[in-house]
Amino acid sequence: MHRDDPIAQESLVDRRSLSSSGLIVSPLKLCNAGSTGAAGDTSPDQSTENPVHLSALEDLSPEFQKHTTCRGISIKNEFLWPQSEEITYSYISGNHRQHSKVDSGITRWSHYINLTFRRVSSGGSIRISLNDNEGSWSYLGALCLRAHIDSPTMNLQGIDDQTEILEDREKATVLHEFGHAIGLLHEHQSPSRIGEFTLNEKGIIKYYETSHEWSRAEIQCQVIDIYKEKHITNFSQFDHKSVMMYPMYPSHTLEGLELPLNTELSEIDKAFAMVHYPRLEPQIPSPQWTVAHALDVLKAAAQISMQVIKNTKTLP
Ligand SMILES: [Zn+2]
Repeated sequence: MHRDDPIAQESLVDRRSLSSSGLIVSPLKLCNAGSTGAAGDTSPDQSTENPVHLSALEDLSPEFQKHTTCRGISIKNEFLWPQSEEITYSYISGNHRQHSKVDSGITRWSHYINLTFRRVSSGGSIRISLNDNEGSWSYLGALCLRAHIDSPTMNLQGIDDQTEILEDREKATVLHEFGHAIGLLHEHQSPSRIGEFTLNEKGIIKYYETSHEWSRAEIQCQVIDIYKEKHITNFSQFDHKSVMMYPMYPSHTLEGLELPLNTELSEIDKAFAMVHYPRLEPQIPSPQWTVAHALDVLKAAAQISMQVIKNTKTLP
């Protein structure tokens, strides 16, 4: 397993919403984990305990469905967390240094959304393992509530157990996986990728087969495939600075682009998350981040802006 690129090893998927063209919306629709849910676990017996129904994904390829049920992925507003939710998380493995570093990364998201994360000693809604042989992955959004209580819902690979400070690569991993945990999908698979660059599929396949030992099917559904608009709720203008973007090396695109691993939330990451989980008041560390500012960043159409602001006023 390639150890230098933890972001690209994760085995989940997803993201995003709010197109500049005005596609969507109902960004504030609450999740309903009890209805059309999906869940997944890596072992067949656990899948039996948590039957999966992915009505929204029925017409996706069998390989795609297999992956979604393995890790939990989704693309529906139903899988977002309820507004103003306090989400508990706990660690299944790792030492205090690792836990402290991951804690510091998690709080970076919570500056911009109305969700709060509270660490508990065990049995959190998000259960984090720190297994260095498994890649990094996470269930998507509230789907983690359907995982077996003894199973992790997120794995973070490459969090050094000897250091105290969260380094850039570790931070990228934490931000990316917690992006999935609040319901975001991959930016490089966004429909807005079209026209930005053209993947060199041979180069992509060679890279991930060699350095990550991924199967063709995994590469297809984690990197190459573009989400169909009918399967996702919203998406932003393309954002190559997003933490939900895999790094791109020159052999990965026909244009020979080089897009580095993103280690900080981009402006669009913050804005996109905020319009889905809008805060009534900005956090003290980021007073400029009002909902109106987020809508400006996203260049949201006036009709969408009005709806988002209206919905924000009805928040619990
Ligand atoms: Zn991912």
